[in-house]
Amino acid sequence: MRHAASSSLDLLIVGQGLIGSLLAHAAADAGLDFLLVDDGHQDAASLAAAGLMTPYTGRRFSAPENLDTLLETAKRRYASLSERLDAPLYRPQPMIRIFTLDEELRRHARQRQTATGARLLGPLQLPGHGPAGMPDPLGSCRIDGGGQVDVATLLQRTRAWLEASGRLRQTRLEPDALELETAGCHWNGHTARLCVLCTGHQARHWDAFRALPWRLSRGQALVLRRDSAMPDEVVHAGRTLAALDDNRAWFGATYQHDLDRRDSDPETRQALLDDYRSLFPEAPSPEVLDHIGGIRAGSRPGPPFAGLASDQPALALLDGFGSRGTLLGPWHVDRFVQGFMNKSLIPLKP
Ligand SMILES: Cc1cc2nc3c(=O)[nH]c(=O)nc-3n(C[C@H](O)[C@H](O)[C@H](O)COP(=O)(O)OP(=O)(O)OC[C@H]3O[C@@H](n4cnc5c(N)ncnc54)[C@H](O)[C@@H]3O)c2cc1C
Repeated sequence: MRHAASSSLDLLIVGQGLIGSLLAHAAADAGLDFLLVDDGHQDAASLAAAGLMTPYTGRRFSAPENLDTLLETAKRRYASLSERLDAPLYRPQPMIRIFTLDEELRRHARQRQTATGARLLGPLQLPGHGPAGMPDPLGSCRIDGGGQVDVATLLQRTRAWLEASGRLRQTRLEPDALELETAGCHWNGHTARLCVLCTGHQARHWDAFRALPWRLSRGQALVLRRDSAMPDEVVHAGRTLAALDDNRAWFGATYQHDLDRRDSDPETRQALLDDYRSLFPEAPSPEVLDHIGGIRAGSRPGPPFAGLASDQPALALLDGFGSRGTLLGPWHVDRFVQGFMNKSLIPLKP
């Protein structure tokens, strides 16, 4: 197998969050030569994520059109990565949705009329039948088919796997240091046919992608010490509570638009704790182990950005997965690799 040292690569991947990691594995499966450059996760939304793959989300109970295909591809990919990286990276998780608005009840009923919705969405449970200790005045329902990816372990094991094969460079790739030509790109002594940015929200600062219709939001969450009062299921009730392991639970997240503020602020921490108390009024105050955050990069039309820069055929973007990276990532990454191999990737339109 040729490796990065040969300096003639198929792909130069920038960013090793969830998406860059998935791309590295898909590229390896396709027999492509690649090098991955990451700045040490200095700004990785993936490390703030709960890793939930929730089929139906938000007030609208929305789901991507090809939900069944996305779920199947994602589960297959996480199973194969669990083997390759020798760690259990995915677990199916029953989820409970506690209704907080009348509109959600209507949307739930409508989704249950579709074939996939009838299979994955449980019927309305009347008030008083939700998880113990949680008020559910509008009732609740069960969501099946989803699960949880251990994103932190996936990133950490992938990093070790890349390092072991000499395919990782830990540094920041500055746009000025990347030389782009029609047939390929050059960076730091390496030549590749295509440079792919998987840099999360940072890609919006690159000239080639600045004009794309980004939808950005800052998200913060708390890591709590898990106690016996917390339900075993993932609970979505405006905020989400999900076990991370036997000792820790994730509670969040916010959607904020003050992107310039980078720290995890005390007001948000307090607001999250207040929300926790209203969801679990009888429970003891939780112990906060960590307060984490990151910027979600989504696209206004919805689907992620997966294509070439409009005027640079050797520069591509695989980004804009919003709050659904775990579900959308595997399918879009596989399709991107196929597009690269078939030479059918097309320019992204601003
Ligand atoms: C609070 C919160 C909760 C979330 N919960 C979920 C969830 O439960 N389920 C879900 O599916 N999604 C969730 N998401 C969204 C999820 O985080 C994203 O969809 C996904 O992880 C984005 O991954 P990424 O690889 O595109 O970007 P990132 O994780 O941001 O990775 C980008 C990487 O590139 C590096 N980088 C950037 N620029 C450069 C450069 N020039 N040179 C070198 N390296 C660079 C960064 O440091 C980072 O390591 C959540 C997001 C937030 C903020």
